[in-house]
Amino acid sequence: MTNITVCGAAGRMGSRIVALSRDYTDLRLVGAVERTAHEAKGRDVGHIAGVGDLKVMLTDNLEEAAGLCDVIIDFTSAASTIEHARMAASKKKAMVIGTTGLSKDELQLIRNHSGQIPIVLAPNMSVGVNLLLKVLQDIARVTGDDYDVEIVEAHHRLKKDAPSGTALKMAQVIADALRRNLDDVAVYARKGLIGERNQKEIGIQTVRAGDIVGEHTVLFGGLGERIEITHKASSRDTFARGALRAALWVAGRQAGFYDMQDVLGLK
Ligand code: NAD
Repeated sequence: MTNITVCGAAGRMGSRIVALSRDYTDLRLVGAVERTAHEAKGRDVGHIAGVGDLKVMLTDNLEEAAGLCDVIIDFTSAASTIEHARMAASKKKAMVIGTTGLSKDELQLIRNHSGQIPIVLAPNMSVGVNLLLKVLQDIARVTGDDYDVEIVEAHHRLKKDAPSGTALKMAQVIADALRRNLDDVAVYARKGLIGERNQKEIGIQTVRAGDIVGEHTVLFGGLGERIEITHKASSRDTFARGALRAALWVAGRQAGFYDMQDVLGLK
């Protein structure tokens, strides 16, 4: 049995993880953590997730909630995730991190903790997107510099970071396959008299509207043809199930820094 504590338990992702955890006979929800000012603090998290009594109260005390669990699942915000990773390392608890919008320095701080505990971090926990990352690598290797790469992502109006962590991951995977430095070739916006496209550019464009769960299209534009690969998430449950699968995988594993490619055996 793997015991989990969910950080950000009343959020869009956290509440789906809480709800779906009931489907797994080998997982048990033992803790649910929210920020101190959250209005639902002290309530049964099952009610917040819309699944009735779970006998797990929403708390702001991660230290206490972490004591009971094997794995902390964190879908909060960059600043909170850093704090939670520090706590997880001090308590020797495994972690699954879905939070996006982490800066390079923040990522490095988390990586440092993976010397003491196993951490799975992935900006997108769906099986489909992780399969796609593998396919994108293959396409980029074959199409090389002859095809222009453009990525378009769309999310709901409440999303705080842009471009999405998934779009950035896709861009990174493609840049690595093409032996380009993403910082040098990424183009995030175009306007005005911008001149001809630089052959090595990787364009990454953002759309924010309504309740779009998450859509990504990667376009490889050649002369006489183009390839478009699209992934559309229709429900957050795909990410939530990925996070729960990652929690089962990471429990009891050696300290280290892992991603969903490791969890899904795609490496
Ligand atoms: P959300 O705003 O609905 O939920 C975040 C929750 O975290 C909120 O309820 C907030 O109160 C809580 N929180 C903030 N600070 C906290 C703290 N210190 N301790 C405990 N809880 C705290 O956002 P969301 O849509 O659920 O997304 C959360 C994060 O997950 C974002 O970074 C988002 O981009 C990312 N995300 C990742 C994936 C993935 O597959 N990896 C999928 C969807 C979203």
